[in-house]
Amino acid sequence: MNKTIAVIRGDGIGPEIMDATLAVVDALGLGLSYDFVDAGLAAQARCGELLPQATLDAIGRHRVALKGPLTTPIGGGFSSLNVELRRRFDLYANVRPAITIPGTRARYDGIDIITVRENTEGAYGSEGQTLSEDGQTAQGVIRITRHGSERIIRYAFELARRERRKKVTLVHKANIMKTTSGLFLKVGRDVAAEYPDIVCNEMIVDNTCMQLVMNPQQFDVIVTTNLFGDIISDLCAGLVGGLGLAPGANIGTDAAIFEAVHGSAPDIAGKGIANPCALLLGAVQMLGHLGQIEAAARVRDAIRETIIAQDHLTPDLGGVGSTADFARAIAARLDG
Ligand code: ATP
Repeated sequence: MNKTIAVIRGDGIGPEIMDATLAVVDALGLGLSYDFVDAGLAAQARCGELLPQATLDAIGRHRVALKGPLTTPIGGGFSSLNVELRRRFDLYANVRPAITIPGTRARYDGIDIITVRENTEGAYGSEGQTLSEDGQTAQGVIRITRHGSERIIRYAFELARRERRKKVTLVHKANIMKTTSGLFLKVGRDVAAEYPDIVCNEMIVDNTCMQLVMNPQQFDVIVTTNLFGDIISDLCAGLVGGLGLAPGANIGTDAAIFEAVHGSAPDIAGKGIANPCALLLGAVQMLGHLGQIEAAARVRDAIRETIIAQDHLTPDLGGVGSTADFARAIAARLDG
């Protein structure tokens, strides 16, 4: 594959888990090339800017980036670098897989859920947020558009089809939020009609949370609006044992950024004991996005087998292994 991706090593444990991740990806022999660029504290130290133009240009040029966790210093001009990157590239789909791996702190076996969260509108817009002068009344605006709903729901159905998944659940609250959630649901029904090969069901968000806790195996792909998706994707991460194994992708029309959900873990940075799996699973999502479905499955299976075999696991998974040794154990299993 003749493809270059932008790579941001990131802050804290970022460089350690990125080196481990790229070592496993390199062992696939796909011929991927890397354009290393900086953001966050590393960029600030190097060139005085948190988000240099050269980094934005590289992401725009290569259209695919793998990113380690970034630290956004207070007063740095951004409330969050991650949110700023999503805004700059209109990364409308936040895609969060949650898969159980035996031998981890997962609450259930057999969970394989992808949450597709709308990332750009809904209840999270800053426009229209007001607080009255006496501080007694706060208001916000929930903005849902046909365009925003259609592209996220279509993304979910296309993902389901590409990954040979069977069901998409539209999560909403249209019984109460009749206009906003109502529009999302209506668009969902329209889009679902174009995908007769995929089962579509509808579920109210509060019931979804209860069903996820009681019977999570019934879910396959979930698609929902920004606020509900934020909550549900963390609920799903909790079901499979927390953020240590949780990757995330932020996908737009012109660019896509793949990452671990966790932060820069400054408490263990530099010690060589960080678990690389969340970022590596982000790389698995990236390979799927690049059409390398078989390579993605090989890495996912190798991670699973390594954890089941308890081979060089890092301390967060109950082992005494190092980041690099854990990655080597995973790479050694790539050929099954
Ligand atoms: P940030 O402000 O960058 O989000 P944080 O410390 O608030 O950093 P996380 O970085 O997500 O939040 O860390 C939360 C806890 O989880 C920390 O104790 C950290 O050491 C641990 N942790 C996070 N990622 C990993 C990892 N990949 N491997 C092992 N432990 C991790």
